[in-house]
Amino acid sequence: MSDFHIDVYPVRDVCIVKGQGAYVRDDQGNKYLDCVSGHGVACLGHCHPEFTRVLKDQAEKLTVCPNIFKNDVRERALKSLADITKCQQLFLCNSGAEAVEGAIKFARFLTGKAGIISMVSGFHGRTAGALSVTWNPKYRETFEPLLPQINRIPFNDIDAFKQAVNADTAAVIVEIIQGEGGVIPASPAYLKALRLFCDEKNILLILDEVQTGFGRTGAMFAHQHFNIKPDIMTLAKGMANGLPMGAIAFYMDTTGKIKKGYHGSTFGGNPLVCAAAECVIDILKKDRLPERAEALGKKAIEKLNLELRSVDLVREVRGRGLMIGIELRQRVVSILKKLMEERILALPAGPNVIRLLPPLIIDETDFMNAIDIIIQILKDANREFIA
Ligand SMILES: *Cc1c(COP(=O)(O)O)cnc(C)c1O
Repeated sequence: MSDFHIDVYPVRDVCIVKGQGAYVRDDQGNKYLDCVSGHGVACLGHCHPEFTRVLKDQAEKLTVCPNIFKNDVRERALKSLADITKCQQLFLCNSGAEAVEGAIKFARFLTGKAGIISMVSGFHGRTAGALSVTWNPKYRETFEPLLPQINRIPFNDIDAFKQAVNADTAAVIVEIIQGEGGVIPASPAYLKALRLFCDEKNILLILDEVQTGFGRTGAMFAHQHFNIKPDIMTLAKGMANGLPMGAIAFYMDTTGKIKKGYHGSTFGGNPLVCAAAECVIDILKKDRLPERAEALGKKAIEKLNLELRSVDLVREVRGRGLMIGIELRQRVVSILKKLMEERILALPAGPNVIRLLPPLIIDETDFMNAIDIIIQILKDANREFIA
């Protein structure tokens, strides 16, 4: 850790100073294939030329414009966002946790109820409200009491949901593929049943697409694979290719209900991040990056499944698009370290899952080579594991 930062992160002993495309370089001149991309943030990769030019141009024009004034770039970004999310209204903020905070606040206000149901293994951020609906007791318990009337139920279990609902249930918050919790996909049948039961009981369905949004899973938003719509969706990570930006998307007209002063953000929707988001959306569409993620992810997951099927160390390969998890029967720290020695950066998701979130622009040959190296490292580690 740095002497001047509080000790909250498991910091790796490498100092990253530069990035280009799907590669980053450290201060020793070593080059790494980046399958972390800032926790799935840099969907266009590092220093994408068009993105960089848009940022430079906007930096020379206007970077500060609070929401008490109109702004041309913000209007364009909102229109692009409404277009790809197919939502009715938006609120712009600065992070995933902040989007979740707002979603909880408005779900409670709009329904007049206080109860929120969330999922075992769900992750929604570390501010007080977002932490309340996050599952991992390790993150949460030290800081209790948090929000009241939160019910965390088993994921992919519709009966558990039906039993948990009561007269005070405002909303349920769920990820389409749980990210931090271990790359665990919601089943299509579960999502459909969840949507139906929420409609029946007037419960708001909050989809947290902070990690799965903006093409990551092979659709612009992961719920679009399943022909369902949320009532509220939270967004951040890939949204501005690494600039701090989040959003709450409302699939309803809140006019006359949500009033002036009910919410706000100093930095939210500033012209620089709005220019970034507009550019991200343009490039995702123009270069068909969600489709690319779907095809490349399919190829990688098929290869991993084929090669690792008889490797005892590996419990399961999961995911969709370029959100891939490899669950092991042991902790992944030593494997991540070996990958770093091979100049590949990857993430954990919980103690036992290797998570790959490369930029959506990653070169196919580079990525498939990395998949081969991962397979080889797991096969080598397996010899020790079964010994
Ligand atoms: C990362 C993440 C968050 C929190 O986002 P921050 O920007 O780190 O606050 C919330 N929800 C999900 C699903 C995430 O993956």
